[in-house]
Amino acid sequence: MVNTGYTSGSRPLRVGLTGGIGSGKTAVADLLAAQGAAIIDTDAIAHALTAPGGLAIEPLRRAFGPSMIGADGAMDRARMRELVFADPQAKSRLEALIHPLIGQEAEREAAERQGVYQVFVVPLLVESGRWRERVDRICVVDCDEATQMQRVQRRSGLAPEMIARIMNAQATRAERLAVADDVILNDGGTTPAQLADRTLAQHRAWLQRLPSP
Ligand code: ADP
Repeated sequence: MVNTGYTSGSRPLRVGLTGGIGSGKTAVADLLAAQGAAIIDTDAIAHALTAPGGLAIEPLRRAFGPSMIGADGAMDRARMRELVFADPQAKSRLEALIHPLIGQEAEREAAERQGVYQVFVVPLLVESGRWRERVDRICVVDCDEATQMQRVQRRSGLAPEMIARIMNAQATRAERLAVADDVILNDGGTTPAQLADRTLAQHRAWLQRLPSP
């Protein structure tokens, strides 16, 4: 019998997967999905919430005014990014509006999804502070900053100054490691094959934690 991680009256094992921009969260999540984990991607949820017709659009319009909603009906991301970089209070207001909606949607998805266990991919898990009680394990994809910078530059072509701004607004490597239950190292010396091996080893360790069928 396949151990689905579900027993009557209990919920499946929940892992919160985090790491800085370019650390390799998506790469790890893809590898875990191939092993049968249900992936709940809070970045994708945030995008859907702020897309045309998304649940956050009307609250955003009320809180920030119509100029933050583009002609297509989506949140104007570039404009919002500039606002929150310049104004910490606006950043707090945006987070107070969007984080509960992300949490709610993540729970809704989790209730609908099967999987050996569940992985919530949360880029700002350490920063937002509300995830500790939602997950059983916090897993950090760990990477040095120089490699993060290189990977993001290669992937997105963003200017180094913009990447540095994003990284400075995120928790530090040490802050993430301080709250990690599990760590998958994906630094500059890590090959894709090594990342796959380390992820599989972590997957097996989580399987050991599942309730017996
Ligand atoms: P995140 O989701 O944390 O921002 P990604 O998983 O998208 O990071 O990884 C960032 C970029 O670096 C992607 O283009 C990915 O393919 C690449 N990458 C990640 N890990 C490695 C690695 N060990 N070796 C080479 N490229 C990698």
